[in-house]
Amino acid sequence: MVDTHNDVLSSATMRGLNIAGDLSGKTHSDIARLKKGGVDVQVFSIFCDERFGKDTAFQFANLEIDSLYAIAARNPEKMAVVTTPAQLQQAVSEKKLACMMGVEGGHMMEDQLSNLDSFYKRGVRYMTLTWNNSTSWATSAMDETLKKDSLPHKGLTAFGKQVVQRMNALGMLVDLSHVGEQTFWDAINTTTKPVLVSHSCVYALCPVFRNLKDDQIKAVAKNGGVIDINFYSGFLDSTFQRRLTAFNNRHKAEADSLKALKWVSYEIEEYFLKAYPDEAGSLRPPLSVLLDHIDYIVRLVGVDHVGLGSDFDGISSAPKELNDVTDLPLITKGLLQRGYNKNDIRKILGGNFIRVFSANQVF
Ligand SMILES: [Zn+2]
Repeated sequence: MVDTHNDVLSSATMRGLNIAGDLSGKTHSDIARLKKGGVDVQVFSIFCDERFGKDTAFQFANLEIDSLYAIAARNPEKMAVVTTPAQLQQAVSEKKLACMMGVEGGHMMEDQLSNLDSFYKRGVRYMTLTWNNSTSWATSAMDETLKKDSLPHKGLTAFGKQVVQRMNALGMLVDLSHVGEQTFWDAINTTTKPVLVSHSCVYALCPVFRNLKDDQIKAVAKNGGVIDINFYSGFLDSTFQRRLTAFNNRHKAEADSLKALKWVSYEIEEYFLKAYPDEAGSLRPPLSVLLDHIDYIVRLVGVDHVGLGSDFDGISSAPKELNDVTDLPLITKGLLQRGYNKNDIRKILGGNFIRVFSANQVF
């Protein structure tokens, strides 16, 4: 089982927590619970938000990479950092958690191809071209939606196309989660390798700005890539945002006071959902909604182009049944109940990702 997106490394690094320790009750995941949940391969997100930029983002990304190597070095019997499909298979056969890294946000390369090369050398195997913030060379889904008329450019610039080409040459997967539609089309028309969409959902089922429309899903299939479904309630359930807004309005005075303290919106949302667990619990959709997104992609383009990218520890709300990574087997159970055979389930649970990872190797 492969999960292509988990934020616990970056969130734990920021909070001074050790993912090799027991973080039950504090996070969705830690190394022991990932194993308990049946995860064989975890791609950890290397992340910092738009408050990091020139002279700070690349450095902070490296601090997170350092953390993973340090934790793995102290726990060689439990986990191994892997950078090739062969190493991945080796770690899985030794029953260790195979740990991979993906940079979430092109801003972390600070507009330098040499920094991209450095990420690759340090073991990073995918990069989302943007996070919610645009870079100087690629526009994000959020900005293409909210700042439509004030963007200095839209899609990939000439340098942005060079970034994609360099990723192809290195063997780093081009990850199209978070990017705007124009960036998506520019990137998919530039890449010569299958792409990854590490943690996104289906727009037709839940029309939010960073989900994929049908023509995008078909383009990923044609490219031989894979779309890994994000578990965030707000990307899965089209009624969630309305209920979340009502919830937020009930706590508006507190939100305003946190904004005055310079908290950003996702921090406030995360805090609220933890501070008011009963109310927050009632907002969560059932697991069947997540399975519907898998079904949708399978019906549209077949079983070879969908997988799982939970976004655990980067999301404040997941379907009711999924309280942490140890609940992952419920997805397998749900797929069996919906009539998927073992071969299909192997593809969805990670086979499709491994195919894309292998196709991006450079020899
Ligand atoms: Zn993300």
